[in-house]
Amino acid sequence: MSREDLKTKLLEVFEAAPRLRDILLSSDDVHFVRSEMRNYLYNELMVRYDRDRDMHPLIWVAVRSAMAAFENILSRRNERMAGFSLLQYCVDLVHGTSGDQVEHPAPGFFAEMQHLVWGITGHISIYDDSEVTDCFVSEGREAAEIRSRDLSEMAAGIHGLVERYTWGMDEEVVETRERNKQRIMDYFGGNDEDWNDWRWQVRHVIRDADTLKDLVYVSAEEEEAVREARKHHVPFGITPYYVSLMDNEPDSTRDRTVRAQVIPSRFYVESFLRSRNEGQSMDFMLERDTSPIDGITRRYPMIVILKPIVTCPQICVYCQRNWEIDDVWQPSEKGMPRKALDKAVQWIEKTKEIREVLVTGGDPL
Ligand code: SF4
Repeated sequence: MSREDLKTKLLEVFEAAPRLRDILLSSDDVHFVRSEMRNYLYNELMVRYDRDRDMHPLIWVAVRSAMAAFENILSRRNERMAGFSLLQYCVDLVHGTSGDQVEHPAPGFFAEMQHLVWGITGHISIYDDSEVTDCFVSEGREAAEIRSRDLSEMAAGIHGLVERYTWGMDEEVVETRERNKQRIMDYFGGNDEDWNDWRWQVRHVIRDADTLKDLVYVSAEEEEAVREARKHHVPFGITPYYVSLMDNEPDSTRDRTVRAQVIPSRFYVESFLRSRNEGQSMDFMLERDTSPIDGITRRYPMIVILKPIVTCPQICVYCQRNWEIDDVWQPSEKGMPRKALDKAVQWIEKTKEIREVLVTGGDPL
């Protein structure tokens, strides 16, 4: 799509909110556009609060949420944290200040923006506004029954969408995974009893691209990413059980999410290495600042994380502990010294408000 096409598409998105569109067109000064858009949103919100009595509460709530989402897009704090300004992108696109080398948005960007703009203006398609749902003009039990029927229809639609996808209990998936299990057990020389023994699982953690390739289909890109990860000591490891959840056919797409959890992408490895080389902290959940005593992370009033070992039998790509994990669990891993672990447990005992303890370290099965 050319820059001109992108611009046309973006302006079409804003057609539902002509004032926002005019503001965007009025100046290439992002600060001015930001301030004018904020004023517009503020005034619109006040109108909703003060005068829009005819708007049904359900639509009102959706409008208010859409406005809050748009405010978040305009927030300079959010821009700083994301390292990207969507508003600047839109201004550059509309005024041509970015030249022809404009970045192409991901698929879905325009659809998301469109729904946001419709949300702000109250044109939400959840409740068809051309024939406002009967429950909006009824009251009491009658309104509740109509709404309940509407919700059942929505639920049926959702089920229809969800059922398009296979899941782990489908007969065919269960059989496929059973075959995978057999293949993996044969490779390592194990039996059913071994398979269900966590010690056997951790003894056979897959730690490199070659073994992974022997056990399951791996794309060239996945293989390269795993090799790079190993070469640069980016934590990587998968249990035999988890590999059995992956399909062995090159053209399968249904196991993408299963794979994405543990096979790092090239982008992930590159970003990881860049952050490390630049000396940036990988502790994105600020665990350092939320650990009142060794082995404990407390971020919530009643729940804590207990970390008896600083690794796992398999490494999740998204794990918030990756900043402190050097490698996947080794059979020689000793874990936290007994004394320190006792202290952490005593701390939990003394902190009476704690109701739940999440013990991390990952179950390999
Ligand atoms: S702690 Fe949880 S999220 Fe992190 S690697 Fe282990 S299992 Fe995955």
